Amino acid sequence: MIVEVIKKLSSIGEVIAGSKEERRLVDLIKETFEGVADDVRVVPVDVLNWQEKSVSVSCNAKALSLTYSPSGAGEAKVIEVKSLFEIPKLYSQAIEEGVEAVAFTTNDGTLRRFVLKRSPFLQYYGEPPPIPAVFLDRRPNDETCYVEVETKFAPSVGYNVEAVRAGKTDELVYVTAHHDHFLSGEHDDLAGVALLPFIKNEKRTLKLVSLTAEESGCYFDTLSWGCGARAYVSSLRDSPKFVVDLDFLDPTSVLFVSPGLFKSAVGVVESRIPIERRPQAYTNSYAFLRKGIPTVTLSPKEEVSYYHSNKDVVEPQEEELLERFVNVVSGLVDSLEFNESEILEDVRELLESLPLEVRLKLVMGLSPQQYLSSFRMVMKTGRARDRPFGEILGIVESFFDKVTIEGLGEFSPPQGLLEVLVRIKILNEFLKNEFEQMNI
Ligand SMILES: [Zn+2]
Repeated sequence: MIVEVIKKLSSIGEVIAGSKEERRLVDLIKETFEGVADDVRVVPVDVLNWQEKSVSVSCNAKALSLTYSPSGAGEAKVIEVKSLFEIPKLYSQAIEEGVEAVAFTTNDGTLRRFVLKRSPFLQYYGEPPPIPAVFLDRRPNDETCYVEVETKFAPSVGYNVEAVRAGKTDELVYVTAHHDHFLSGEHDDLAGVALLPFIKNEKRTLKLVSLTAEESGCYFDTLSWGCGARAYVSSLRDSPKFVVDLDFLDPTSVLFVSPGLFKSAVGVVESRIPIERRPQAYTNSYAFLRKGIPTVTLSPKEEVSYYHSNKDVVEPQEEELLERFVNVVSGLVDSLEFNESEILEDVRELLESLPLEVRLKLVMGLSPQQYLSSFRMVMKTGRARDRPFGEILGIVESFFDKVTIEGLGEFSPPQGLLEVLVRIKILNEFLKNEFEQMNI
């Protein structure tokens, strides 16, 4: 039944944020909420729409243009990659080498899209990427590959679809997914969208939200993902207990949980899905985490073989897995609880585990004296006298070996720093409230 809904949504084909296809998809999504929601709203969001008009290559391979590629023509440097996440660095290097165009391939018969980013930190300052880039389904044997790309950028409107279903209490929980998708996009993320109307709640009030512009749609911002979610968060009037973000439902998906939710999640999930005790920052979850809202994210742990490709297709036998996800998420919605002692354990662990260099960067804004007294107090009493990490606004961008933190600048982090920083953000929000309540 869920697979049927996915196939119906998928019949529209690829949906780039702000396209006319998105309007048709939004109408279908509204239909899925009929009879299962008390109210449905469609909220327009300003997005940058990117369109591929035409692509041709002289070499023997199928081709499409990479998202945000500018129009242009020239002889392409052909680069084979194992992971799409290698593309930003290699694209940046190619620009520096002065090549006219780039052709990426995973040489496995797939066509893929990926937003072109340029080192360092996607800082285009409002400019599109400078040279055309295409993706080939295989590495061609030809000596040269001449490419010609025509694309179009235009300011447009995307839509967030929000369905509300009342529970017995005013406690509010959001479940989010994104409907814009590259190529077939059935796991990423039409499956998440299709799941929303099946989720059950009794106790808590639910907002089921299908967001626009997760994959693309930002105006060459420092973060290329989650623009629809950022717009949604910036106009929030209520505060949810937590958000469950469904992004890329696959047999390898795990549940990422932000600080304070781990023990409760383990109890609710009962080993039906593996749980990771860290937040997922590379989905729409980041927009919520940035505001200090706890999140649970269902998403694969590693890059999946058909990621962003024309082979991202859901098979009928996945119905059972999708039903398991519905049951788990329905359980989380009504029963997941935020645990204060767990969050303080996390503060302790972070204070001890962070490398000195990072700690020093993070405590800017606090005097060493203030920092020390906070540190001692957390260690001794499990409570904070102040925010032990100073004023961290958020992470601007993680890019290979560099991270830029809002208000602090860039530096080389240890592994997984983006996740560490997101944890810190949540902790800071929590501790700020604690501090205010303690009134000292
Ligand atoms: Zn996704």
